[in-house]
Amino acid sequence: MYEALQVHKRPRVAIFELASCAGCQLQILNLEDELVDVLGLVEFVYFKEAMSNSSDEYDLALIEGSVTRESDAEKCRTVRERATLVGTLGSCAYPVGIPGLKNHGDVEAAAGIVYGEKADLFASHPVLPVDAVIDVDFRVLGCPIDKKDFLETLTALLLGRKPPSPTYPVCVECRIAENSCAFDRGETCLGPFTRAGCGALCPSYGGRCYGCRGPADDPNVLSMQALLEEHGLTPEQIAADFALYNGYERGA
Ligand code: SF4
Ligand code: SF4
Repeated sequence: MYEALQVHKRPRVAIFELASCAGCQLQILNLEDELVDVLGLVEFVYFKEAMSNSSDEYDLALIEGSVTRESDAEKCRTVRERATLVGTLGSCAYPVGIPGLKNHGDVEAAAGIVYGEKADLFASHPVLPVDAVIDVDFRVLGCPIDKKDFLETLTALLLGRKPPSPTYPVCVECRIAENSCAFDRGETCLGPFTRAGCGALCPSYGGRCYGCRGPADDPNVLSMQALLEEHGLTPEQIAADFALYNGYERGA
């Protein structure tokens, strides 16, 4: 499947935006040192944050943002039909990110808060990740995406390979970086649950992991239980942290 782009000399790339802050698209524009090289390898044909030209013909589609209304889902289905490969950008698209906060409350009340008297004009439903609506071939994770991660993904696709995606949790990268552990400072951290690939960015700057990259394939549940017990904490005390970026319950 990932060989599909190799038949194109300069694959056409389209970037779409659903419910998001557009920060992940901005990360692509922030590739000051690499953007010229990227433009030599691919042709952007739809990228509203960067250009006014647009085309419905593309090989690779990248979708940023969450699905919050039926028109978003329709857009995803159309993109899936037109593109050879479809990937997502950022936490809003997967696991569901900040827009998913809406799922923790009353959806109609949320519409009223945002749109006031005109709420009825903006049909909105609980927030879904893009892969709840269409098949997705790969993901660039994070809030926002990491520029290096984006370039590695694009490079892999242009070489006909599956983009890299670590299966292990953030704690592995955090230990390699020799960081002090947030639990030892009396804080909580979602590193044992969260998929690595960010280089333990937040813990490396003295922060803690909020799970923006979604769950690891093999989360270290036993380690998390041991950490919580060791520090006199309960699972409920990290549930709010987990809910921040993971407001969509899979299989629900
Ligand atoms: S993942 Fe974060 S940076 Fe990217 S669009 Fe969503 S809120 Fe913005
Ligand atoms: S729990 Fe957080 S701070 Fe501690 S090792 Fe894991 S990622 Fe690092």
